[in-house]
Amino acid sequence: MSKISIFWFRRDLRLHDNAGLYHALKKGVPVLPIFIFDKNILDKLDDKHDRRVAFIHEAITEIQAFLTAKGSTILVKYGTPEEVFPVLLDEYDVDTIYINHDYELYAHERDESVREFVTSEGVGFSTYKDQVVFEKNEILSGAGTPYTVFTPYSRKWKEKVNTFYLKSYPTEKYFDNFLQTKPFEIPTLAMMGFQAAKAKFPSKQVRDGIIRSYAENRDFPAIEGTSKLSVHLRFGTVSIRELARKAQSLSETWLNELIWRDFYFNILYHFPHISQGQAFRKEYDKIIWRNNKKEFELWCEGKTGYPIVDAGMRELNATGFMHNRVRMIVASFLTKHLLIDWRWGEAYFAKKLLDFDFAANNGGWQWASGSGCDAAPYFRVFNPSLQTQKFDKQLEYIKKWVPELNTFDYPAPIVNHDFARKRVLPVYQMALKGF
Ligand code: FAD
Repeated sequence: MSKISIFWFRRDLRLHDNAGLYHALKKGVPVLPIFIFDKNILDKLDDKHDRRVAFIHEAITEIQAFLTAKGSTILVKYGTPEEVFPVLLDEYDVDTIYINHDYELYAHERDESVREFVTSEGVGFSTYKDQVVFEKNEILSGAGTPYTVFTPYSRKWKEKVNTFYLKSYPTEKYFDNFLQTKPFEIPTLAMMGFQAAKAKFPSKQVRDGIIRSYAENRDFPAIEGTSKLSVHLRFGTVSIRELARKAQSLSETWLNELIWRDFYFNILYHFPHISQGQAFRKEYDKIIWRNNKKEFELWCEGKTGYPIVDAGMRELNATGFMHNRVRMIVASFLTKHLLIDWRWGEAYFAKKLLDFDFAANNGGWQWASGSGCDAAPYFRVFNPSLQTQKFDKQLEYIKKWVPELNTFDYPAPIVNHDFARKRVLPVYQMALKGF
């Protein structure tokens, strides 16, 4: 049996400009790429129509088609990494396993346990940065501490970035180093208990015009003014380096959004307590939430009687996407108007968002509730009517998702805005007293 190396795909589902894959191929030992539909994750998804599983399946199928044409294949397993790796090490004489870093808690623990097992079997385990431009301790303050405020973080990010950090990894130079073998079959979605996606996913080709006009258009949910690349960034079907280069040449505002993404990964890495369900600012864990279940259901269903909130929730439920401006409005509404724990909203988004990403989602929710790093001040309560006047004046977005607006079928507001504002402030003040 001749030696092979393994490249394990996870949140980096692309063959081009992929750091770990590049290093695996470059070494010259034939590379077998693998993907594991991880039962530890899939078993927790109770929606068997979950479009994220279908998205991954499509991306893997594309990779398979490309590799088959090159006389190679991807090996796709359905199981847990703990089950899969012992079998692989039995079947193949493995030199090294290559991965890209994943910063989420489960992923980190999983990777450490795989590392422990394979290295105990004498197999190498090499890991690389790929998902972000800067990771871990690459961006620190002058005092050597992690940033918790975005503006100085982004300043340092922009000072440090250069062609070295943004260059592509030319994997294509070494495509001949994929293991030559007949194609393996990919388990079907049905075999894993899931269903194919009915609607198309957003394209990964973004029009330059959208990015050029991003600063003017990004806040208007009725306009196609943002890239819709979040799902591709989530699963790595696009390269962050390529997008950052594009942003540098087309729009500083859009570059800032990509930096927010790095920023939240930086927070996740340096402040692991946020992965344990805790507020970034611990004093916010003293808030006494109302947590009314019926009101939470109405929020989830888009039946609060606040058209902009309902439109957002219905867009989310129907498509798995919600415009960023509207995400901020619905999150503020849940936490401030209804005084429902942001963790309930975070968990609902985690179930529904196609682009769900722990770091960005947790960051967004803690920003809205006031408990996060660099968050909206707690006394800022978005006024849904003013937000509508500013960002959906012609009600185009609202009417798309709430066609029954202005009819008797549309519910009355779940709570009066002024009343809600007066109710929330003392609750926050009480929790923050003494800090
Ligand atoms: P664009 O506006 O075109 O931005 C380009 C990319 O930058 C995005 O695709 C995304 O990767 C990144 N980005 C933009 N804004 C942010 C931000 N505020 N924080 C981190 N990254 C950002 N984004 C997610 O990717 N996953 C989530 O689970 C998620 N949950 C959120 C929850 C709340 C409550 C809020 C307020 C925001 C959340 N966001 C999340 C951030 C943002 O809403 C989405 O990234 C954005 O709407 C995706 O649309 P787009 O691809 O068209 O973004």
